[in-house]
Amino acid sequence: MIENDPVTGLWTFRAFQTQVSKEIERNPKGAADGEYAICYCDVLRFKMVNDMFGVEEGDKLLKFMALLWKEYAGEEGEACRVEADRFVVFVHKKGEELEQMIKDYLKALSTYPIPYEIICNIGVFVTTGERMSVRAMVDRAIIAHASAKGDFLNRYNFYSESQRDAILSEQEIVGMMIAALEEKQFVVYYQPQYDHTNHMLVGSEALVRWIHPKRGLISPAKFIPIFEKNGFITKVDMYVFESVCEFQRRCIDNNTPMVPVSVNVSRRDIYQKDFVENLEEIRRKYDVPVEYIRLEITESAVIGGPQYISEVLDQLHKYGYVVEMDDFGSAYSSLNVLKSVPFDILKLDMEFLSEEGNQKNGGIIVSSVIRMAKWLGFPVIAEGVEVPEQADYLQSIGCRYIQGYLYAKPMPESEYTALLFESNTGKTIPPMSLIDTMNAYDFWNPTSLETLIFSNYVGGAAIFEYRNGKIEVLRANKKYVSEINNTLREKDIIEDDPMRFFDEKNHRIYMEMIERAIASGEEEECETWRTYEGYEPVCLRSNVRMIGKSADAYLFYGMIRNITAEKKAMEELMYREKLFRAASEQANIYYWEYDVKTKDMVPCFRCKRDLHFPPVMQNYPEPAIEMGVFPPEVADSYRQFMKRIENGEPDIEMDIPLTKDHVMFHVHYTTEFDEEGKPVKAYGSAIPV
Ligand code: C2E
Ligand code: CA
Ligand code: CA
Repeated sequence: MIENDPVTGLWTFRAFQTQVSKEIERNPKGAADGEYAICYCDVLRFKMVNDMFGVEEGDKLLKFMALLWKEYAGEEGEACRVEADRFVVFVHKKGEELEQMIKDYLKALSTYPIPYEIICNIGVFVTTGERMSVRAMVDRAIIAHASAKGDFLNRYNFYSESQRDAILSEQEIVGMMIAALEEKQFVVYYQPQYDHTNHMLVGSEALVRWIHPKRGLISPAKFIPIFEKNGFITKVDMYVFESVCEFQRRCIDNNTPMVPVSVNVSRRDIYQKDFVENLEEIRRKYDVPVEYIRLEITESAVIGGPQYISEVLDQLHKYGYVVEMDDFGSAYSSLNVLKSVPFDILKLDMEFLSEEGNQKNGGIIVSSVIRMAKWLGFPVIAEGVEVPEQADYLQSIGCRYIQGYLYAKPMPESEYTALLFESNTGKTIPPMSLIDTMNAYDFWNPTSLETLIFSNYVGGAAIFEYRNGKIEVLRANKKYVSEINNTLREKDIIEDDPMRFFDEKNHRIYMEMIERAIASGEEEECETWRTYEGYEPVCLRSNVRMIGKSADAYLFYGMIRNITAEKKAMEELMYREKLFRAASEQANIYYWEYDVKTKDMVPCFRCKRDLHFPPVMQNYPEPAIEMGVFPPEVADSYRQFMKRIENGEPDIEMDIPLTKDHVMFHVHYTTEFDEEGKPVKAYGSAIPV
């Protein structure tokens, strides 16, 4: 039986499985928690190496990779090549040692002497106490690999149970959703909103619940994102809207005390044709006065198209709807954008303002959320309020409307109806008071409320003074410092001249922003690179706003966000694209991608330049045949050739005369398959023979 791969000398996958089982059995601890790991790795666009440099070079690279793996896996490890450029490696390493090995491997590979950057993604499965076959371990490494793929920053990824759950349940949820709507498994819960100053019930939010006959309650956090992805959310939202109208109608008929109910509108809904008319039709059908229904649109929807959202809001206002911006502060939109979108109320989610919430969003910067609301002049409802201290604090800074577990959790209709009868209710929400003006100079009083907000509720922010072309940082919060670098201290930033970190060009960019901000009195933005001694340069996006002015000095409030990773990824992408172009220019090859299902063909720049192909060619190869790239007498055989891809041949090639000059080309396709083994894409190349 063949046990070794002829190209690399590594095990075949079969032999590998046997070896690994043996290895695990030999260890008295077995595959105990974290003892071993399986790595699954492949090379991005490996085919290009073969096409550009020849199969021999390709094999050389594979041998190099194999050698590296053997070395890094060590005595107790095993490595095999599953197929093509795909390797599976078993190592007896864990924790930091394991991660270091992967990093070393990636680094060593990147030095491979070839004018083409070798990029490889690695999926890692670390054994758990659970007994499983080697095949099952490899499958998990493949799942981890799939999520690493295409990520230029994180070339490797560890498998986690939740990753598998997420994949499994998404399919299940999609499979069950249509029947669920028909069988009325979606149920509307109501979460009341209160005025904290007098404990009156002033409104509520409709929140959908999925009560599955077998699975029980399914959390919206689980299914809403999936519905948003596949569009089913619009059906559910319409259903919720109608249920709420129906409920309010019943309240009117039964003389139940009434308060407005807010219905969530997903960003998908807004882009539906006749969205506003459809809502109106339902509302009129139940003849519910418009002041009893409010709508909530999440802030992140605004980013996609402030202009469009504004138009939708105008339409809604025409009919008299009050519209709330949900999860205000979570998407960190710029003040200027928010100002241009005519929301009526801001809903501020305490969860997004917490320390953890901010980190989850990558420490992205907003100005003080409360301060922003004040600048914008909007009333605020705070959501997710769990403890009295939060409510008291919010009230003290001018936000008296509260929704959260402190008062009540979302509840079924019957319970909510009972609550309406026994509560003090206001018919509609009374006009809300605005937050008192904040005094900028209170920012350096350590006991002031501003200080509290400054330190806790914003991203990276600083107060600085600008005088005679010089900047002096007066205060910086913790997040400001950690945005730049975790090992710096607030002291390091305050005591240093910040201009020291700029080179001339970046200094100019920054100063121009300051001048703009002084001239406009508005928030201004710029991106600059800075170098802090002993650290890699960082790229920061800065937003600044003037908050005070004296004879020769200006006081500024500034926010920063570290965008180095984004910038680097962009640069890397462009660099690789350039390399790739240069290499294929020299190698005299044409290449393209073909989508088996849509028949779309995406050509390389050479095809576009020499053959006048459009950026995407639909119904390939017909237009190319029409253009004469394939002479009439070979057209049919080329069509046959393409058929073979559809029929699932993994690798096909032929020599074919092209263009009216009948230049002989060697055409080669490699097919890519989905999990079910169906062909999805094919990568083609043509080299003059
Ligand atoms: P959301 O619109 O921000 O809704 C508020 C969420 O916060 C609700 O979670 C609510 O139960 C929860 N919450 C309320 N008070 C507290 C509190 O004091 N502490 C904590 N930790 N949480 C609190 P829920 O019901 O699980 O909904 C999650 C999300 O699902 C909603 O977030 C909303 O984005 C979405 N969603 C729910 N129903 C619908 C719907 O009918 N249509 C659409 N498009 N989305 C919906
Ligand atoms: Ca909401
Ligand atoms: Ca919310």
